[in-house]
Order: sequence, then C-alpha cells, then structure tokens
Amino acid sequence: MADNISPLEAEIRRLIGIAGPMPIAQYMRLCLTHPQFGYYLNRDPLGSGGDFITAPEISQMFGEIIGLWLAAVWKELGAPENIRLIELGPGRGTMLIDALRAAKTVPAFHAAVVLHLVEISPALQKVQERRLEPLGLPMLWHTALEQVPAGPCLIVANEFIDALPIHQAVKQSDGWHERGVVIGADGALAIGAMRDPLPHFEATLPRGLRMSPEGSIYEWRSDAATLEISRRVREDGAALIIDYGHAWYGLGDTLQAVCGHAFADPLRSPGEADLTAHVDFQALAQAAESIGGRSHGPVAQRDWLRRLGIDQRAAALKAHAPYGKSTEIDQALSRLTASGARGMGELCKAMAIADPKLRELPGFERP
Ligand code: SAH
Repeated sequence: MADNISPLEAEIRRLIGIAGPMPIAQYMRLCLTHPQFGYYLNRDPLGSGGDFITAPEISQMFGEIIGLWLAAVWKELGAPENIRLIELGPGRGTMLIDALRAAKTVPAFHAAVVLHLVEISPALQKVQERRLEPLGLPMLWHTALEQVPAGPCLIVANEFIDALPIHQAVKQSDGWHERGVVIGADGALAIGAMRDPLPHFEATLPRGLRMSPEGSIYEWRSDAATLEISRRVREDGAALIIDYGHAWYGLGDTLQAVCGHAFADPLRSPGEADLTAHVDFQALAQAAESIGGRSHGPVAQRDWLRRLGIDQRAAALKAHAPYGKSTEIDQALSRLTASGARGMGELCKAMAIADPKLRELPGFERP
C-alpha cells in the first residue's frame, strides 16, 4: 500500500476493511460529495485550470437557447405570475446568465422569475453568488431539491444527473453480483464483486437484458432524483434534463473519471477527479411517468438545439462578430452539435418531464 494516500482514500480503505467490498454507488458518492474531501466540495472544476468543460461554458448560444425554451414553456403553463426557476447543479452559473439575458425578450417571464439554485458545493455556490447577483433577481440557494418550496416551477439540469451515483452488477455463473471497490492483491484499490448474488435480480431487468452472457455489466441509478423532479412538475411545471446518456437501456460499464481535461482511472486519487456515468433516459422516463409526469424525448442534443434555432443564432452572432471571432463561433457550434466521440451532438441528449396538460414542448415535437 502506498504511503502517500490521500485522507479520502484512507477513509475508503478503512470502510472496506470494516464492511467488505464498497458498492460503486457508495464509492462514487464519497469521491464526489464527501463533506470534507469530496471532489465537488472544495473546488471550481469548470474554472480556468479546471478539469472539464460543459456546453454552457463552450458557448453563450447554449444558455440563450435554453432561455428561449423556458420563456416559451412558461407561456404554455399559462404564464404564472410567480415561477420558481430551479437549476440543479448550476456550476459557474453561466447557463442562467445567458438564459436570462435571452429571456429578456419576454419581459413578463423575466419579471415572474424567482431563482432557486440547488448546489452541494460551497465553493461553486460562492462563484454563483458573485456571478448571478448583478442580475438583480430574487435568488435562494439549497443543497437539495426537496428544500425548494412547492409551486409552479421550471427545472433545468445540465450535466447534473451523470454525477449522481450509479450501481453496477456483473453477471456470473450463479447470477448477478453487485460490483464494489476492494483492496486488490497488489494493495491498490480494484473493482471486485460481492460474494453473494443479488436475489431475483434478473427478473427486475428489462426483458431484453435477461439471459445476458457471463461477464455482462448492468448499471442503474436510484430513481429518487427523477421522482422528486416529476413530483414537482406534474402540476404546473416542466423540467429540462440534458446529459450524456443513452435513449434505451443497455449493458456496459460507463463509469469514467476526468482530471485536467483527460480521462483518468476512477480508482486512482479518489476525490481528485470528476466521476460520471451515462444517464439511462429510458429509466428516467419510466420513473417520471410512474408518478404522473409526462416525458418528452430524449432527442439528440444536436437535433434539439437545431430545432430551437442554434444555426440561425450562430449566423446572427457571426454577422456582428469582430474579426477572428467567427471561427470561434463555428468551432463552438460544431462542438455542441457534432456526432461521434468528439462532439456532444449525439452523445448528449435532451429530455423533458412536464405536467401532462402540456402536450408538446419546443424541440421535442414528434416528426
Ligand atoms: N450545470 C453546470 C455544471 C455541471 S457540473 C454546467 O453545465 O456547466 C455538476 C454540478 O452539479 C456542479 O455544480 C456540482 O457541484 C453539482 N452537484 C453534483 N452533485 C450534486 C448533488 N448531489 N447535489 C447538488 N449539486 C450537485
């Protein structure tokens, strides 16, 4: 065992020593949100010298499109005089700044907004306070969605769900075993599995995944966050969720670590790297609909942004751009909409959950 392990790794090893393999979900939760040493708790991962970049940080166009979407959906909700605009995991607050600037074209919407920011990181909360205060809107911070008062609301969450812990199970000869972090033969943290299989696990899987071959890995997340979102929007509300993920259930290990804009080993330096795993949008839709919300999409981020006019917005920005800025706008547009592993156009998807009285939502029209 290395001598120079971090305090969080020491804590993880201690817990494994007491209780055996640590479920991936518990490992992920500790790495990201341990009150003292968690990745999100004491840094700005998106700032200069940060670890990763998100769509709102790539271009103002992203937040602007979201602002127009919010104003349009507010109208469809009957233009309530007070609307809670809730963002889950607002990062540096950039998306809201761009969204609310664009939404000024609908002054009554702008005037109806009270901002509620759900943020677990005191460091990022400070960044948000500093950057959002000049907007001059009423704003309140919370550490969980449950703390936001009930009432008509619009919820936005970009790259939030992928940071919520996932569980993993691996198929073995005697059934599915939950995967967990163990101390390997060489003394380093490694992935192992619980000794006993999960009882009746196969019967709970989507039909198409039963009878999967040995070695298959299945991931799932608690439905708690989706249920809370759906409960809030099913009457006079709508939520927009954008994230890396897949439209249909499937098999595979998508847990990944990113540090300094490069992929890293999720088991090295716990608490020092961002950990994420893809969102299963089918599971989200099912959970949301099980308690009365209506789900829309998912659609590829590229299609959603295009339907809402990102190409026209890019052209307008370019028309007024100073010399040299045009290429930057083209590059940002391409990054947000391109297919394949380099772009976010297909890997990222947009989905909405809303009050079922809203039949169709902008960008989610069925072709
Ligand atoms: N939406 C922003 C930031 C994405 S990073 C953007 O697109 O740029 C993830 C964000 O979620 C960070 O603000 C992080 O601090 C916050 N976060 C992660 N886990 C959280 C949790 N369990 N509760 C509340 N906020 C959380």
